Amino acid sequence: MFQSIRGRILSTNLFLILTAMIVLGIALIWPLQNYFLSNLKDDMVNRSQLVSRLLEQEVINGNYSNVDKQAKLIGEKINTRITIILPDGKVIADSESNPQDMDNHSNRPEIKKAFSGEVASRSRYSTTLDTEMMYVALPIKKDGEIVAVTRLALPLTEIAKIFFRLRTILITGILIAAAIAIFLSIKLTRGLTEPIEAISDGTRKIAAGNLETKVYSGTNDEIGELGKYINIMTATLREKIDEISQQKSRLENILNTMVSGVIVLDYHGMVKIINPAAEEIFGISGLISEGKHNLEVIRHYGLNEKIKQCLKEEKTIDYEFTIFHPEEKILQCYLAPVYRDKEIAGATLVFHDITTLRRLEKMRADFVANASHELRTPLTAIKGYAETLLDGALEDEKISRKFVTIINKEADRLMKLVEELLTLSRVESNGSEINLESVDIRAVIKAVSEEMKQRFSDKNISLSLGLPEKLAAVKANSNRIKQVMVNLLDNALKYTPEGGSVTVRAYEEDEDVMISVKDTGIGIPPKDIPRLFERFYRVDKGRSRQLGGFGLGLSIVKHIVHSFGGEIGVESTVNEGSTFWFRLPKYSK
Ligand code: ADP
Repeated sequence: MFQSIRGRILSTNLFLILTAMIVLGIALIWPLQNYFLSNLKDDMVNRSQLVSRLLEQEVINGNYSNVDKQAKLIGEKINTRITIILPDGKVIADSESNPQDMDNHSNRPEIKKAFSGEVASRSRYSTTLDTEMMYVALPIKKDGEIVAVTRLALPLTEIAKIFFRLRTILITGILIAAAIAIFLSIKLTRGLTEPIEAISDGTRKIAAGNLETKVYSGTNDEIGELGKYINIMTATLREKIDEISQQKSRLENILNTMVSGVIVLDYHGMVKIINPAAEEIFGISGLISEGKHNLEVIRHYGLNEKIKQCLKEEKTIDYEFTIFHPEEKILQCYLAPVYRDKEIAGATLVFHDITTLRRLEKMRADFVANASHELRTPLTAIKGYAETLLDGALEDEKISRKFVTIINKEADRLMKLVEELLTLSRVESNGSEINLESVDIRAVIKAVSEEMKQRFSDKNISLSLGLPEKLAAVKANSNRIKQVMVNLLDNALKYTPEGGSVTVRAYEEDEDVMISVKDTGIGIPPKDIPRLFERFYRVDKGRSRQLGGFGLGLSIVKHIVHSFGGEIGVESTVNEGSTFWFRLPKYSK
């Protein structure tokens, strides 16, 4: 009930004040009452003595009716009941009743005591007056012998009335004093608790996160001091929090903009932090990963083992692994332990997508293997024929001519391969550095078809052009575009049987110019189409080689088109023909 300081101080004060007042009241009332009673008793004894002296002679004389009369007179005067009793208990005078009507009084305790020679006082119930009375009795003696007893009686109701008045005055005084004390106590308590309540209000707001709150510090006492220090503490806290949140947002920025994926795990392998790059790598963008186990997020047991090892052995680990979801990727993960208070607390995982790197490495290795293989074939032939010639065939002119012709043909082939390799290397290495100019694609197509016209008619293949009157220029390099056209027309010619036809078209499509080379040749099986533009890729190696191809033409074409920001593709049906197309952005200044 009294949980607040104010309640507790108030209740304690109230208790103390009331207890003090009650104790004070009792301490005052009792002695006062006793003092009053003993005074009254003394007074009554004195009065009894006086009455006894006044009536003594008449009693001794036996003039009882006179005694009664006198008693009635004096009794009225002193407002006290007077009774005179003979040793046999008979009442001879009474100020308030007729003595004849009164019963024997010998058994009354105060009377008994008075007849034994003592002054007796007693409070008891009077059957005669039907009220509580105070009695004082003392003996009347003649020559040392008790002849009667004078008894004075005062109704206690009178005394009670006096006591009541006394108590009322005292209690009123006590209550007024208590009220003043309580009022002062409330004022004092409020003076003490109001600043505390104000501070408590402020700290409640601070606890709710409002660090701008200033708590009460207006007094010059300990409470004011407390308020002041709370304000200093809040300011320091605010500074620290600002600092920490700045650091945090800086860190978040770094993590969010990092290309590498970062995942921070706790000691149990649960994800604490994951950056967008990591979410992207594992295809879990938009899902909640924090708080989940790494196996749930990454789903890679091999990596989980490495995480356990990193945490257990507290060492950094480099681990390369492949994931198949959301797509096949080769990842390199760098695992490092994280410490808090010198104790291992978890691990940081940094992921790099090395798929392209590994693919390039493989392509490079494949390229070297393919190039060496292509180079070796004519070289082997050249060396074989040259050795045979040296071994004696040189003597036979017919054979020597035949062999040297073959050697010459193979050398041509070698030359062509080296040229194509050089072209590929050129278009691959400086694709982005080449000067872009406005190229009139119509003119290029016309020039190339003019140059190749003879070869087409030699093979009895019709070459037709479907060009519009006007065609926008493209942003490219004229020599390279020429190379593209030569390669595509060369393929069309190679892979179209005699009697077929080849059509070159060009037209504008939105912001691009579209060029297509359509033939009625052997076509390409669908399974080969995705790899067609790879270096050294040929659908039918034997046929291509026979036709003098190395599988480099289309990869050269692809590189050139891509280097101009264009696109290339093919649609083909086996035995019906193929359409190679590429689009290039229009020239714009
Ligand atoms: P190649 O020197 O062997 O012709 P390319 O890179 O130019 O090399 O072509 C790759 C392969 O694509 C060829 O070996 C051939 O199998 C196929 N190809 C290219 N153009 C055509 C076409 N017009 N019709 C059918 N197949 C083609």
